[in-house]
Amino acid sequence: MSVTENIKNIHERMAAACARSGRRMEDITLVAVSKTKPVSMMQEAYETGCLDFGENKVQEIVNKKPQMPEDARFHMIGHLQTNKVGQVIDKAVLIHSVDSLHLAEKIEKEAEKREMISDILLEVNVAREESKYGMFLEDVTKNLEVISRFPHIRVKGLMTIAPNVENAEENRKFFKELYQLYVDIKSKNIDNGTMSMLSMGMTGDFEVAIEEGATLIRVGTGIFGSR
Ligand SMILES: *Cc1c(COP(=O)(O)O)cnc(C)c1O
Repeated sequence: MSVTENIKNIHERMAAACARSGRRMEDITLVAVSKTKPVSMMQEAYETGCLDFGENKVQEIVNKKPQMPEDARFHMIGHLQTNKVGQVIDKAVLIHSVDSLHLAEKIEKEAEKREMISDILLEVNVAREESKYGMFLEDVTKNLEVISRFPHIRVKGLMTIAPNVENAEENRKFFKELYQLYVDIKSKNIDNGTMSMLSMGMTGDFEVAIEEGATLIRVGTGIFGSR
C-alpha cells in the first residue's frame, strides 16, 4: 500500500471513531510520524494534505525541515536532552515530550534568548512503565503550577505513550485517566487557559484514543510502513 492509500485508510478509521464517540474530525490532528523515513515519503504525505510530521530525534528535524515545504510542521515527540533544546526550539511547532521540570526550565531559558514563546505538552507516564519517560500522573499538577508561570512557555496540553499491547482496549483505561486529568486541570484553571491538546494514540490504538478524547494522534507505521 502507498502512503496515499494508507493515509486514506487512517482518515476513514478516524472518521469511524469520531462517529462512534460523537466527535468531529476537524478537532483531531493526524501527526504523521516520519522518524527514520525518507523525505520523499513525507512529500507524498504532504501532497495528500498532511502538514504535521512527528520526529523523535532532533537531528532528523534539523535535516528534514529545510527539505520540506515552508508550511510543513514538525512535532518533537521523542525524549529531548537539555543540551539539544537550542537546536530544535525554533524548528518544532510543538514539543510533545516535556517529561521533567528540568527540561521545561531549559526550554524557558532558550525561548527567552530567542524572544519567542515555545508551545509544549507535558508527557505523562500514565501506565508507570519503567522503560518510558514522562511524569507520573500525581506529579503533573505541581509541575504545571511551576511551568505555567514561565513567560516563554505555553503548556498546550498533555501527552502519553501507552504500552505496546496486542489489544488496544487494554489501553483505554490509561487514555481515560489522562483525559480525566486534562479536564481537572482545565476546570481548576491551573494552566492559565492554554490547555487544549491531548496527544495520545498511535498506529495500534488511535481509535480507542480518539474515543477517549485525543486531539492529536501520532501514527507512524500505519502511514509509512514498518521501521
Ligand atoms: C514512533 C512513535 C509513534 C508512532 O508509532 P507507530 O506505532 O509506528 O504508529 C508515536 N509516538 C511516539 C512518541 C513515537 O516515538
